[in-house]
Amino acid sequence: MSNVPSPMPASMYPNRPAVSLQVVVIGAGIAGISTAYALGKAGHHVTVVDKNDGNSKTARAIRCGPNMTKILLQWGLESTLKSISQRCSRIDWYSGTTPDSLGSMILAEDFLQDLGAEFYCMEQAQLMSALRELAQEERVTFHLNSQVLNADSITGSVLLHTGEKLYGDIIIGADGYDSILRSIVTDEVQEQEAKEGHVILSFTISTNILEADEELRGLMDPSAWSIWIGESHIIHANVLNQGRDYAVTILWGCGSLHRAIPEGDWSTIKAAVNGIGADLDKVEPRVKKLLGHATTISSRVVFSRSSVDNLICENSRIVLVGEAAHPVLPGVHHSQALSIEDAETLGSLFSRIGRKDQVSQLLTAYNEIRQPWDKFAVEHSYRNQANLEAKQGPIQEARDAKIRAMLVQMVGDHMDEELFKEVWGNELSLFSNDAGEKVEDWWCQYGSLIMRSPHRDSILSSVAVSVSQDTE
Ligand SMILES: Cc1cc2nc3c(=O)[nH]c(=O)nc-3n(C[C@H](O)[C@H](O)[C@H](O)COP(=O)(O)OP(=O)(O)OC[C@H]3O[C@@H](n4cnc5c(N)ncnc54)[C@H](O)[C@@H]3O)c2cc1C
Repeated sequence: MSNVPSPMPASMYPNRPAVSLQVVVIGAGIAGISTAYALGKAGHHVTVVDKNDGNSKTARAIRCGPNMTKILLQWGLESTLKSISQRCSRIDWYSGTTPDSLGSMILAEDFLQDLGAEFYCMEQAQLMSALRELAQEERVTFHLNSQVLNADSITGSVLLHTGEKLYGDIIIGADGYDSILRSIVTDEVQEQEAKEGHVILSFTISTNILEADEELRGLMDPSAWSIWIGESHIIHANVLNQGRDYAVTILWGCGSLHRAIPEGDWSTIKAAVNGIGADLDKVEPRVKKLLGHATTISSRVVFSRSSVDNLICENSRIVLVGEAAHPVLPGVHHSQALSIEDAETLGSLFSRIGRKDQVSQLLTAYNEIRQPWDKFAVEHSYRNQANLEAKQGPIQEARDAKIRAMLVQMVGDHMDEELFKEVWGNELSLFSNDAGEKVEDWWCQYGSLIMRSPHRDSILSSVAVSVSQDTE
């Protein structure tokens, strides 16, 4: 292990609350489970409902940045992280369709110390199982294989497909990219028409295959995170599962999306993928080889979406977290980190509740802290993606030249920040974010107002959660 300090697994929240709320969480994905755990830990009675059995069927690699690592360590998961994940100490960049490297970004200790924690790579299912155990320790109950048909923000009821109703003082919408809770909170009508978006393809293969192939062997360094940036696509790949597997996630920008793609090997799904305009024949030859070895490629088409203006419903009962709240492109590493930050923010805020009539104020606080940040993260992720997917030609060449220049001069903690920003915007502010600290800052400024004035619906007018330093 390195010398980058581990945040202490503290008692996590300062107080046990004076009242215990009933909370219903819809969705047992990473956002739902972690929010359930954080609110359970904060002293509330939490029930999680999911239409599925809560087990992920497909392999997905989580690339966990320091902002996420920090929280997982505070939640006491240091030994779990050591056992389920690979520490990442280098990012290798490749451009276009040739194996030519643009250079490597060394994640040196002094650089990581500035960010506050390490980068890790792990399988989503393994992290979720660790989080589920934590949630169970906090007596969170699970209602699996139960589809939610609707939620009523006035009565606080959640209608299940069986006709049964569950009631909560708070209902958490953690129901993912296709959230039904999102439209209740925002009144938006989800467009189902074909329009711009991405196809995401993810798979793992055994590292034995890489070992046996001279061309692929070089990718097997367990501490390396490889990223290919090419016309219309970005590809992330890492060693996973203590060196047993190699995980690949491909995001491909497409003009017209209207088809679901069945799960299968490359020869089975190739025609469908080409049919939506993703010409994977263009990828770098090593990635093409990896695709050819994959037996199960899971995929999904996603539309480009904007962030929401409000994360809580007008009756202050339903609140959005995870991809329901901030639809950054799935597969982009910030998505999972933002979900964990949502959970930590809600847990920390609701550990301070003194009376039931403070629910709406605390939810308002959540909105004030998280909504500007989510908006920034979503806009940043789309802008970054567009830059990295630039078409071949002068724009791509200029970008690659900047990346090369930046990587050459980046030694230890020395970095030309202007050059970094020209390529990646404010990426570092996402990685260095400390969600718990943001709640503390907020509470120091406005907590006493909540404690003093029980009937104040919003403290928005007096609050300016500033993201100005982070806007691009
Ligand atoms: C094919 C595919 C591959 C991916 N690969 C990667 C990858 O390699 N790396 C990466 O970082 N990310 C990847 N992602 C994205 C990643 O899975 C998401 O970012 C993450 O799962 C979002 O977490 P979440 O909890 O917000 O939503 P979800 O994980 O989508 O969880 C939502 C949960 O809500 C439940 N639910 C939804 N509606 C209802 C309802 N009406 N009633 C009851 N339950 C409901 C669902 O069953 C689900 O369990 C991939 C996504 C897909 C689809």
